[in-house]
Amino acid sequence: MDLTSYNDIHNFIGGQFQPPLSGNYMDNINPATGEHIGQIPDSNENDVNEAVEAATKAFPAWSASSVEHRFRVLNRIAELIDENAEALAIAETTDNGKPLWLSKRVDIPRASANFRFFATGIMHFSSDSHTMENRAINYTLRQPIGVVGCISPWNLPLYLFTWKIAPALAAGNCVIAKPSEVTPVTAYLLAHIVREAGLPDGVLNIIHGAGNTTGEAIVKHPLVKAISFTGSTRAGERIAALAAPKFKKLSLELGGKNPNIIFADCNWEKMMTTALQSSFSNQGEICLCGSRILVEESVYEKFKVEFVDRAKALVVGDPMEEKSAQGAIVSRAHFDKILRCIDTAKQEGGKILCGGNAITFKGRCAKGLFIEPTIIEGLGQDCQTNQEEIFGPVVSLQTFRTEEEALQLANATAYGLAATIWTQDVSRANRVAAKTDCGIIWVNCWLLRDLRTPFGGMKNSGVGREGGWEALRFFTEAKNVCIEL
Ligand code: NAD
Repeated sequence: MDLTSYNDIHNFIGGQFQPPLSGNYMDNINPATGEHIGQIPDSNENDVNEAVEAATKAFPAWSASSVEHRFRVLNRIAELIDENAEALAIAETTDNGKPLWLSKRVDIPRASANFRFFATGIMHFSSDSHTMENRAINYTLRQPIGVVGCISPWNLPLYLFTWKIAPALAAGNCVIAKPSEVTPVTAYLLAHIVREAGLPDGVLNIIHGAGNTTGEAIVKHPLVKAISFTGSTRAGERIAALAAPKFKKLSLELGGKNPNIIFADCNWEKMMTTALQSSFSNQGEICLCGSRILVEESVYEKFKVEFVDRAKALVVGDPMEEKSAQGAIVSRAHFDKILRCIDTAKQEGGKILCGGNAITFKGRCAKGLFIEPTIIEGLGQDCQTNQEEIFGPVVSLQTFRTEEEALQLANATAYGLAATIWTQDVSRANRVAAKTDCGIIWVNCWLLRDLRTPFGGMKNSGVGREGGWEALRFFTEAKNVCIEL
Protein backbone atom coordinates (compact mmCIF):
# COMPACT_ATOMS: atom_id res chain seq x y z
CA MET A 1 0.00 0.00 0.00
CA ASP A 2 1.62 3.25 -1.15
CA LEU A 3 0.21 6.29 0.68
CA THR A 4 2.70 8.77 -0.76
CA SER A 5 1.20 9.05 -4.22
CA TYR A 6 -1.94 11.13 -4.76
CA ASN A 7 -1.48 13.02 -8.00
CA ASP A 8 -4.32 11.21 -9.69
CA ILE A 9 -7.21 10.78 -7.35
CA HIS A 10 -9.95 8.36 -8.32
CA ASN A 11 -13.39 7.57 -7.02
CA PHE A 12 -13.65 4.39 -4.94
CA ILE A 13 -16.74 2.44 -5.98
CA GLY A 14 -17.52 -1.21 -5.22
CA GLY A 15 -13.94 -1.70 -3.98
CA GLN A 16 -12.39 -0.42 -7.22
CA PHE A 17 -10.66 2.83 -8.05
CA GLN A 18 -12.18 4.40 -11.12
CA PRO A 19 -12.13 7.72 -12.99
CA PRO A 20 -15.24 9.92 -13.10
CA LEU A 21 -17.64 8.76 -15.83
CA SER A 22 -17.69 12.24 -17.39
CA GLY A 23 -13.87 12.32 -17.61
CA ASN A 24 -13.93 15.76 -15.93
CA TYR A 25 -11.43 16.71 -13.25
CA MET A 26 -10.67 19.63 -10.94
CA ASP A 27 -7.27 20.90 -9.84
CA ASN A 28 -5.90 20.27 -6.37
CA ILE A 29 -3.48 22.93 -5.09
CA ASN A 30 -1.12 22.94 -2.10
CA PRO A 31 -2.13 26.20 -0.36
CA ALA A 32 1.24 26.65 1.35
CA THR A 33 3.25 26.58 -1.89
CA GLY A 34 0.79 27.14 -4.73
CA GLU A 35 2.07 23.89 -6.23
CA HIS A 36 -0.35 21.83 -8.34
CA ILE A 37 -0.71 18.58 -6.37
CA GLY A 38 -2.82 16.80 -8.96
CA GLN A 39 -6.34 16.28 -10.18
CA ILE A 40 -9.53 15.15 -8.52
CA PRO A 41 -12.68 13.75 -10.13
CA ASP A 42 -15.48 16.20 -10.81
CA SER A 43 -18.13 13.53 -10.37
CA ASN A 44 -21.79 13.77 -11.23
CA GLU A 45 -24.99 11.85 -10.56
CA ASN A 46 -23.90 8.96 -12.80
CA ASP A 47 -20.94 8.23 -10.51
CA VAL A 48 -23.24 8.55 -7.49
CA ASN A 49 -25.72 6.14 -9.11
CA GLU A 50 -22.97 3.56 -9.56
CA ALA A 51 -21.84 4.01 -5.98
CA VAL A 52 -25.39 3.59 -4.67
CA GLU A 53 -25.77 0.45 -6.76
CA ALA A 54 -22.57 -0.99 -5.29
CA ALA A 55 -23.63 -0.03 -1.76
CA THR A 56 -27.10 -1.53 -2.21
CA LYS A 57 -25.54 -4.79 -3.37
CA ALA A 58 -23.17 -4.88 -0.39
CA PHE A 59 -25.81 -4.02 2.21
CA PRO A 60 -27.48 -7.42 2.87
CA ALA A 61 -24.22 -9.15 3.79
CA TRP A 62 -22.67 -6.24 5.72
CA SER A 63 -25.82 -5.49 7.72
CA ALA A 64 -26.20 -9.17 8.59
CA SER A 65 -22.54 -9.59 9.59
CA SER A 66 -21.84 -10.07 13.28
CA VAL A 67 -20.85 -7.09 15.39
CA GLU A 68 -17.67 -8.98 16.16
CA HIS A 69 -16.83 -9.06 12.43
CA ARG A 70 -17.52 -5.35 12.03
CA PHE A 71 -15.44 -4.67 15.14
CA ARG A 72 -12.47 -6.56 13.68
CA VAL A 73 -12.55 -4.80 10.32
CA LEU A 74 -13.02 -1.30 11.77
CA ASN A 75 -10.40 -1.89 14.40
CA ARG A 76 -7.98 -3.01 11.68
CA ILE A 77 -8.67 0.24 9.81
CA ALA A 78 -7.74 2.13 13.02
CA GLU A 79 -4.51 0.12 13.29
CA LEU A 80 -3.61 0.82 9.66
CA ILE A 81 -4.22 4.55 10.15
CA ASP A 82 -1.83 4.46 13.12
CA GLU A 83 0.76 2.46 11.19
CA ASN A 84 0.62 4.98 8.34
CA ALA A 85 0.22 8.10 10.47
CA GLU A 86 3.35 9.82 9.17
CA ALA A 87 2.39 9.47 5.50
CA LEU A 88 -1.21 10.52 6.20
CA ALA A 89 -0.08 13.60 8.13
CA ILE A 90 2.25 14.70 5.34
CA ALA A 91 -0.53 14.19 2.80
CA GLU A 92 -3.00 16.14 4.90
CA THR A 93 -0.62 19.05 5.41
CA THR A 94 0.17 19.16 1.69
CA ASP A 95 -3.54 19.20 0.90
CA ASN A 96 -4.76 21.55 3.63
CA GLY A 97 -1.90 23.86 4.66
CA LYS A 98 -2.21 23.09 8.38
CA PRO A 99 0.98 22.59 10.41
CA LEU A 100 2.37 19.07 10.08
CA TRP A 101 2.82 18.79 13.86
CA LEU A 102 -0.91 19.50 14.31
CA SER A 103 -1.90 16.86 11.82
CA LYS A 104 0.45 14.35 13.49
CA ARG A 105 -0.62 15.14 17.04
CA VAL A 106 -4.33 15.79 16.58
CA ASP A 107 -5.98 15.02 13.24
CA ILE A 108 -4.54 11.62 12.42
CA PRO A 109 -4.66 10.14 15.96
CA ARG A 110 -8.25 11.36 16.27
CA ALA A 111 -9.13 9.74 12.94
CA SER A 112 -7.94 6.34 14.14
CA ALA A 113 -9.64 6.98 17.50
CA ASN A 114 -12.94 7.46 15.65
CA PHE A 115 -12.70 3.99 14.11
CA ARG A 116 -11.50 2.40 17.35
CA PHE A 117 -14.24 4.07 19.37
CA PHE A 118 -17.13 3.00 17.13
CA ALA A 119 -15.61 -0.46 16.51
CA THR A 120 -15.71 -1.15 20.24
CA GLY A 121 -18.91 0.88 20.70
CA ILE A 122 -20.96 -1.41 18.50
CA MET A 123 -19.91 -4.37 20.65
CA HIS A 124 -21.57 -2.71 23.65
CA PHE A 125 -24.48 -0.99 21.92
CA SER A 126 -27.86 -2.02 23.26
CA SER A 127 -31.45 -0.94 22.97
CA ASP A 128 -34.24 -0.41 25.46
CA SER A 129 -36.97 -2.64 26.77
CA HIS A 130 -40.07 -1.44 28.67
CA THR A 131 -42.47 -3.63 30.57
CA MET A 132 -46.11 -2.56 31.08
CA GLU A 133 -46.67 -4.22 34.45
CA ASN A 134 -47.98 -7.71 33.70
CA ARG A 135 -49.68 -6.68 30.47
CA ALA A 136 -47.02 -6.36 27.81
CA ILE A 137 -43.35 -5.97 27.04
CA ASN A 138 -41.95 -3.53 24.49
CA TYR A 139 -38.52 -3.69 23.03
CA THR A 140 -36.78 -1.33 20.64
CA LEU A 141 -35.36 -3.07 17.64
CA ARG A 142 -32.54 -1.04 16.09
CA GLN A 143 -31.65 -1.97 12.54
CA PRO A 144 -29.19 -0.45 10.10
CA ILE A 145 -30.83 2.10 7.80
CA GLY A 146 -29.39 0.93 4.47
CA VAL A 147 -27.37 3.23 2.21
CA VAL A 148 -26.42 6.51 3.90
CA GLY A 149 -24.55 9.63 2.77
CA CYS A 150 -21.68 11.25 4.68
CA ILE A 151 -20.44 14.68 3.53
CA SER A 152 -17.54 16.45 5.23
CA PRO A 153 -15.62 19.77 5.10
CA TRP A 154 -11.96 20.68 4.54
CA ASN A 155 -10.82 22.00 7.91
CA LEU A 156 -10.11 18.68 9.68
CA PRO A 157 -10.19 16.51 6.57
CA LEU A 158 -9.55 12.96 7.79
CA TYR A 159 -10.81 13.48 11.33
CA LEU A 160 -14.27 14.71 10.31
CA PHE A 161 -14.56 12.30 7.38
CA THR A 162 -13.96 9.34 9.69
CA TRP A 163 -16.19 10.85 12.39
CA LYS A 164 -19.17 10.29 10.09
CA ILE A 165 -18.14 7.09 8.35
CA ALA A 166 -17.08 5.05 11.38
CA PRO A 167 -20.44 5.02 13.24
CA ALA A 168 -22.36 4.51 9.97
CA LEU A 169 -20.31 1.41 9.13
CA ALA A 170 -20.27 0.12 12.71
CA ALA A 171 -24.07 0.22 12.79
CA GLY A 172 -24.17 -1.96 9.65
CA ASN A 173 -24.90 0.61 6.93
CA CYS A 174 -23.24 0.99 3.54
CA VAL A 175 -21.90 4.46 2.87
CA ILE A 176 -21.57 6.94 0.03
CA ALA A 177 -19.02 9.43 1.34
CA LYS A 178 -17.84 12.71 -0.11
CA PRO A 179 -14.89 14.62 1.29
CA SER A 180 -14.47 18.31 0.54
CA GLU A 181 -13.24 18.97 -2.98
CA VAL A 182 -10.74 21.36 -1.38
CA THR A 183 -9.01 18.59 0.60
CA PRO A 184 -9.65 15.23 -1.07
CA VAL A 185 -6.31 13.50 -0.47
CA THR A 186 -6.67 11.76 2.90
CA ALA A 187 -10.11 10.41 1.96
CA TYR A 188 -8.55 8.95 -1.18
CA LEU A 189 -5.79 7.37 0.91
CA LEU A 190 -8.37 6.01 3.35
CA ALA A 191 -9.85 4.03 0.47
CA HIS A 192 -6.53 2.15 0.18
CA ILE A 193 -6.57 1.52 3.91
CA VAL A 194 -10.12 0.14 4.07
CA ARG A 195 -9.36 -2.19 1.19
CA GLU A 196 -6.23 -3.47 2.93
CA ALA A 197 -8.23 -3.88 6.16
CA GLY A 198 -10.67 -6.22 4.43
CA LEU A 199 -13.77 -4.03 4.34
CA PRO A 200 -15.99 -5.81 1.80
CA ASP A 201 -16.40 -4.19 -1.62
CA GLY A 202 -19.19 -1.64 -1.85
CA VAL A 203 -19.55 -1.12 1.91
CA LEU A 204 -17.74 2.22 1.71
CA ASN A 205 -17.79 4.20 -1.54
CA ILE A 206 -15.90 7.48 -1.78
CA ILE A 207 -16.95 9.95 -4.46
CA HIS A 208 -15.05 13.15 -5.16
CA GLY A 209 -16.49 16.36 -6.53
CA ALA A 210 -18.11 19.70 -5.85
CA GLY A 211 -20.89 20.30 -3.34
CA ASN A 212 -23.57 21.60 -5.68
CA THR A 213 -23.15 18.70 -8.11
CA THR A 214 -21.71 15.56 -6.47
CA GLY A 215 -22.91 16.51 -2.98
CA GLU A 216 -26.43 17.28 -4.11
CA ALA A 217 -26.58 14.09 -6.18
CA ILE A 218 -25.87 12.12 -2.98
CA VAL A 219 -28.49 14.05 -0.99
CA LYS A 220 -31.12 13.70 -3.72
CA HIS A 221 -30.62 10.00 -4.49
CA PRO A 222 -33.85 8.21 -3.52
CA LEU A 223 -32.01 5.19 -2.08
CA VAL A 224 -29.82 7.29 0.23
CA LYS A 225 -31.96 7.25 3.36
CA ALA A 226 -29.95 9.38 5.77
CA ILE A 227 -27.44 12.20 5.46
CA SER A 228 -24.80 13.10 7.98
CA PHE A 229 -23.33 16.46 7.00
CA THR A 230 -20.65 18.70 8.48
CA GLY A 231 -20.03 22.05 6.84
CA SER A 232 -21.35 25.56 6.49
CA THR A 233 -24.77 26.70 7.64
CA ARG A 234 -25.46 27.86 4.07
CA ALA A 235 -24.91 24.36 2.62
CA GLY A 236 -26.73 22.78 5.58
CA GLU A 237 -29.79 24.87 4.79
CA ARG A 238 -29.73 23.74 1.17
CA ILE A 239 -29.30 20.08 2.15
CA ALA A 240 -32.16 20.33 4.64
CA ALA A 241 -34.39 21.83 1.92
CA LEU A 242 -33.55 18.97 -0.45
CA ALA A 243 -33.88 16.20 2.11
CA ALA A 244 -37.00 17.33 3.99
CA PRO A 245 -39.60 16.58 1.25
CA LYS A 246 -38.12 13.07 0.98
CA PHE A 247 -38.28 12.61 4.78
CA LYS A 248 -34.63 11.62 5.00
CA LYS A 249 -32.93 11.37 8.36
CA LEU A 250 -30.59 14.34 8.82
CA SER A 251 -27.72 15.23 11.06
CA LEU A 252 -26.29 18.71 10.42
CA GLU A 253 -23.12 19.95 12.10
CA LEU A 254 -22.77 23.53 10.94
CA GLY A 255 -20.96 26.82 11.50
CA GLY A 256 -20.31 28.74 14.69
CA LYS A 257 -19.53 32.17 16.10
CA ASN A 258 -18.39 30.94 19.45
CA PRO A 259 -18.07 33.13 22.54
CA ASN A 260 -15.03 32.81 24.78
CA ILE A 261 -16.27 34.32 28.06
CA ILE A 262 -13.52 35.49 30.40
CA PHE A 263 -14.34 36.50 33.98
CA ALA A 264 -11.82 38.43 36.06
CA ASP A 265 -11.43 35.63 38.62
CA CYS A 266 -10.17 33.05 36.11
CA ASN A 267 -6.88 31.15 36.24
CA TRP A 268 -5.09 33.81 34.21
CA GLU A 269 -2.15 31.90 32.80
CA LYS A 270 -4.19 28.87 31.78
CA MET A 271 -6.83 31.14 30.23
CA MET A 272 -4.24 33.16 28.28
CA THR A 273 -2.50 30.08 26.88
CA THR A 274 -5.78 28.43 25.94
CA ALA A 275 -7.37 31.60 24.53
CA LEU A 276 -4.47 31.89 22.11
CA GLN A 277 -5.04 28.30 20.97
CA SER A 278 -8.81 28.64 20.73
CA SER A 279 -8.35 31.76 18.59
CA PHE A 280 -5.64 30.74 16.16
CA SER A 281 -5.20 26.95 16.13
CA ASN A 282 -5.41 25.52 12.64
CA GLN A 283 -5.39 29.15 11.34
CA GLY A 284 -8.69 29.69 13.17
CA GLU A 285 -10.25 27.15 10.82
CA ILE A 286 -11.92 25.03 13.50
CA CYS A 287 -15.67 25.31 13.89
CA LEU A 288 -15.09 25.36 17.67
CA CYS A 289 -12.64 28.27 17.71
CA GLY A 290 -13.65 31.12 20.02
CA SER A 291 -13.91 33.97 17.54
CA ARG A 292 -15.70 36.38 19.91
CA ILE A 293 -13.69 37.03 23.05
CA LEU A 294 -15.85 38.56 25.78
CA VAL A 295 -13.77 39.95 28.65
CA GLU A 296 -14.91 41.33 32.00
CA GLU A 297 -14.28 45.07 31.92
CA SER A 298 -12.06 45.21 35.02
CA VAL A 299 -9.39 43.04 33.32
CA TYR A 300 -9.99 44.06 29.71
CA GLU A 301 -6.93 46.33 29.29
CA LYS A 302 -4.62 43.80 30.94
CA PHE A 303 -6.02 41.05 28.74
CA LYS A 304 -5.74 43.09 25.57
CA VAL A 305 -2.08 44.04 26.05
CA GLU A 306 -0.98 40.52 26.93
CA PHE A 307 -3.10 38.80 24.29
CA VAL A 308 -1.86 41.06 21.51
CA ASP A 309 1.76 40.52 22.60
CA ARG A 310 1.32 36.75 22.53
CA ALA A 311 -0.47 36.80 19.17
CA LYS A 312 2.31 38.88 17.63
CA ALA A 313 4.82 36.29 18.82
CA LEU A 314 3.04 33.41 17.04
CA VAL A 315 5.09 32.07 14.18
CA VAL A 316 3.21 31.87 10.89
CA GLY A 317 5.09 29.94 8.26
CA ASP A 318 5.83 26.79 6.30
CA PRO A 319 3.47 24.15 7.71
CA MET A 320 6.19 21.54 7.34
CA GLU A 321 8.27 23.32 10.01
CA GLU A 322 7.83 22.40 13.65
CA LYS A 323 8.12 26.03 14.76
CA SER A 324 5.12 27.20 12.71
CA ALA A 325 2.18 27.77 15.01
CA GLN A 326 0.03 28.72 12.03
CA GLY A 327 0.25 27.40 8.49
CA ALA A 328 -1.49 28.39 5.26
CA ILE A 329 -5.14 29.27 4.66
CA VAL A 330 -6.78 26.36 2.87
CA SER A 331 -7.61 27.91 -0.53
CA ARG A 332 -7.44 31.11 -2.56
CA ALA A 333 -11.23 31.58 -2.29
CA HIS A 334 -11.15 31.27 1.49
CA PHE A 335 -8.05 33.47 1.79
CA ASP A 336 -9.83 36.22 -0.20
CA LYS A 337 -12.95 35.82 1.94
CA ILE A 338 -10.99 36.30 5.21
CA LEU A 339 -9.26 39.41 3.88
CA ARG A 340 -12.65 40.78 2.79
CA CYS A 341 -13.99 40.17 6.31
CA ILE A 342 -11.05 42.10 7.79
CA ASP A 343 -11.86 44.99 5.43
CA THR A 344 -15.48 44.88 6.51
CA ALA A 345 -14.38 45.03 10.16
CA LYS A 346 -12.39 48.18 9.38
CA GLN A 347 -15.34 49.74 7.54
CA GLU A 348 -17.55 48.93 10.50
CA GLY A 349 -15.22 51.00 12.69
CA GLY A 350 -13.19 48.16 14.18
CA LYS A 351 -9.65 48.88 15.36
CA ILE A 352 -7.07 46.33 14.24
CA LEU A 353 -4.90 45.73 17.31
CA CYS A 354 -2.58 43.36 15.47
CA GLY A 355 -2.38 41.54 12.15
CA GLY A 356 -4.91 42.29 9.47
CA ASN A 357 -2.69 41.48 6.52
CA ALA A 358 -1.59 38.71 4.24
CA ILE A 359 2.02 37.58 4.67
CA THR A 360 4.42 36.75 1.87
CA PHE A 361 7.52 34.63 2.17
CA LYS A 362 10.52 33.89 0.02
CA GLY A 363 11.45 30.36 -1.09
CA ARG A 364 9.22 27.28 -0.96
CA CYS A 365 6.16 29.19 0.34
CA ALA A 366 6.51 32.23 -1.96
CA LYS A 367 3.12 31.48 -3.54
CA GLY A 368 1.46 30.40 -0.30
CA LEU A 369 -1.68 31.83 1.31
CA PHE A 370 -0.83 33.16 4.76
CA ILE A 371 -2.64 35.65 7.00
CA GLU A 372 -1.41 37.21 10.23
CA PRO A 373 -3.20 36.43 13.51
CA THR A 374 -5.65 39.32 13.67
CA ILE A 375 -7.28 40.91 16.72
CA ILE A 376 -10.01 43.52 16.39
CA GLU A 377 -11.67 45.67 19.05
CA GLY A 378 -14.34 48.32 19.27
CA LEU A 379 -17.16 46.65 17.38
CA GLY A 380 -20.74 46.35 18.59
CA GLN A 381 -22.47 43.01 18.81
CA ASP A 382 -24.77 43.65 15.84
CA CYS A 383 -22.11 44.27 13.20
CA GLN A 384 -21.26 41.70 10.57
CA THR A 385 -17.86 40.94 12.13
CA ASN A 386 -19.51 39.82 15.37
CA GLN A 387 -22.42 38.05 13.70
CA GLU A 388 -21.00 36.08 10.76
CA GLU A 389 -18.53 33.24 10.76
CA ILE A 390 -15.14 34.25 9.34
CA PHE A 391 -13.42 30.90 9.91
CA GLY A 392 -9.89 32.28 9.89
CA PRO A 393 -7.25 33.70 12.25
CA VAL A 394 -9.45 36.66 13.21
CA VAL A 395 -10.96 37.39 16.62
CA SER A 396 -12.99 40.28 17.94
CA LEU A 397 -12.75 41.57 21.54
CA GLN A 398 -15.74 42.88 23.49
CA THR A 399 -16.25 43.73 27.15
CA PHE A 400 -18.99 43.14 29.69
CA ARG A 401 -19.67 44.35 33.23
CA THR A 402 -22.03 41.74 34.65
CA GLU A 403 -22.82 38.07 34.25
CA GLU A 404 -26.14 39.02 32.62
CA GLU A 405 -24.37 41.20 30.09
CA ALA A 406 -21.89 38.40 29.32
CA LEU A 407 -24.79 36.02 28.67
CA GLN A 408 -26.64 38.53 26.56
CA LEU A 409 -23.56 38.98 24.34
CA ALA A 410 -22.78 35.25 24.27
CA ASN A 411 -26.27 34.42 23.00
CA ALA A 412 -26.60 37.35 20.60
CA THR A 413 -25.86 35.51 17.34
CA ALA A 414 -27.85 33.12 15.20
CA TYR A 415 -25.28 30.40 15.94
CA GLY A 416 -25.06 28.10 18.96
CA LEU A 417 -22.20 25.69 18.49
CA ALA A 418 -19.73 26.05 21.36
CA ALA A 419 -18.74 28.35 24.22
CA THR A 420 -15.89 28.55 26.67
CA ILE A 421 -16.29 29.96 30.18
CA TRP A 422 -13.32 31.06 32.29
CA THR A 423 -14.00 31.48 36.02
CA GLN A 424 -12.92 29.93 39.31
CA ASP A 425 -16.44 30.38 40.70
CA VAL A 426 -18.03 26.97 40.24
CA SER A 427 -21.59 28.21 40.84
CA ARG A 428 -21.21 30.92 38.23
CA ALA A 429 -19.68 28.42 35.77
CA ASN A 430 -22.74 26.18 36.13
CA ARG A 431 -25.20 29.08 35.94
CA VAL A 432 -23.63 30.53 32.82
CA ALA A 433 -23.26 27.11 31.16
CA ALA A 434 -26.96 26.38 31.68
CA LYS A 435 -28.00 29.72 30.16
CA THR A 436 -25.63 29.72 27.18
CA ASP A 437 -27.42 28.58 24.03
CA CYS A 438 -24.68 26.29 22.70
CA GLY A 439 -24.43 22.54 22.24
CA ILE A 440 -20.89 22.27 23.64
CA ILE A 441 -19.67 24.25 26.65
CA TRP A 442 -16.16 24.11 28.01
CA VAL A 443 -15.37 25.42 31.48
CA ASN A 444 -11.73 26.37 32.02
CA CYS A 445 -10.61 24.32 29.02
CA TRP A 446 -11.12 24.07 25.27
CA LEU A 447 -11.37 21.31 22.68
CA LEU A 448 -11.34 18.45 25.18
CA ARG A 449 -13.37 15.70 23.52
CA ASP A 450 -14.76 12.59 25.11
CA LEU A 451 -16.18 10.62 22.19
CA ARG A 452 -18.95 9.21 24.40
CA THR A 453 -20.61 12.61 24.73
CA PRO A 454 -23.18 14.06 22.33
CA PHE A 455 -21.62 16.56 19.95
CA GLY A 456 -23.28 19.27 17.89
CA GLY A 457 -24.79 22.72 17.87
CA MET A 458 -28.03 24.53 18.64
CA LYS A 459 -29.79 27.24 16.59
CA ASN A 460 -28.14 27.76 13.16
CA SER A 461 -25.22 25.53 14.19
CA GLY A 462 -27.14 22.39 13.44
CA VAL A 463 -29.59 19.69 14.37
CA GLY A 464 -29.10 16.17 15.58
CA ARG A 465 -26.29 15.21 17.90
CA GLU A 466 -23.45 12.93 17.00
CA GLY A 467 -20.95 11.20 19.23
CA GLY A 468 -21.30 8.22 21.53
CA TRP A 469 -24.57 6.33 21.42
CA GLU A 470 -26.20 9.29 19.66
CA ALA A 471 -24.25 8.56 16.49
CA LEU A 472 -24.97 4.84 16.57
CA ARG A 473 -28.64 5.60 17.21
CA PHE A 474 -28.70 8.11 14.35
CA PHE A 475 -27.46 5.45 11.96
CA THR A 476 -30.16 2.97 12.94
CA GLU A 477 -33.89 2.76 12.31
CA ALA A 478 -35.74 2.18 15.57
CA LYS A 479 -38.85 0.00 15.66
CA ASN A 480 -40.90 -0.70 18.73
CA VAL A 481 -42.11 -4.25 19.13
CA CYS A 482 -44.94 -4.63 21.65
CA ILE A 483 -45.87 -8.15 22.84
CA GLU A 484 -48.94 -8.69 24.94
CA LEU A 485 -48.21 -11.22 27.64
P1 NAD B 1 -19.12 23.76 2.90
O1 NAD B 1 -20.50 23.78 3.45
O2 NAD B 1 -18.80 24.67 1.79
O3 NAD B 1 -18.75 22.30 2.38
C1 NAD B 1 -18.80 21.17 3.24
C2 NAD B 1 -19.03 19.93 2.40
O4 NAD B 1 -20.33 20.00 1.83
C3 NAD B 1 -18.08 19.80 1.21
O5 NAD B 1 -17.82 18.44 1.00
C4 NAD B 1 -18.89 20.38 0.07
O6 NAD B 1 -18.50 19.92 -1.19
C5 NAD B 1 -20.28 19.90 0.42
N1 NAD B 1 -21.38 20.72 -0.08
C6 NAD B 1 -21.41 22.06 -0.28
N2 NAD B 1 -22.62 22.43 -0.77
C7 NAD B 1 -23.36 21.30 -0.84
C8 NAD B 1 -24.69 21.02 -1.27
N3 NAD B 1 -25.51 21.97 -1.73
N4 NAD B 1 -25.13 19.74 -1.22
C9 NAD B 1 -24.34 18.76 -0.76
N5 NAD B 1 -23.06 18.95 -0.36
C10 NAD B 1 -22.59 20.21 -0.39
O7 NAD B 1 -18.16 23.98 4.16
P2 NAD B 1 -16.58 24.09 4.15
O8 NAD B 1 -16.23 25.45 3.65
O9 NAD B 1 -16.00 22.89 3.53
O10 NAD B 1 -16.26 23.98 5.72
C11 NAD B 1 -16.28 25.04 6.58
C12 NAD B 1 -17.59 25.09 7.34
O11 NAD B 1 -17.80 23.87 8.05
C13 NAD B 1 -17.61 26.17 8.41
O12 NAD B 1 -18.86 26.80 8.39
C14 NAD B 1 -17.43 25.40 9.70
O13 NAD B 1 -17.93 26.03 10.85
C15 NAD B 1 -18.17 24.16 9.40
N6 NAD B 1 -17.76 23.07 10.28
C16 NAD B 1 -18.62 22.65 11.25
C17 NAD B 1 -18.24 21.65 12.13
C18 NAD B 1 -19.16 21.17 13.21
O14 NAD B 1 -18.86 20.13 13.79
N7 NAD B 1 -20.23 21.86 13.51
C19 NAD B 1 -16.98 21.07 12.00
C20 NAD B 1 -16.13 21.53 11.00
C21 NAD B 1 -16.53 22.53 10.13
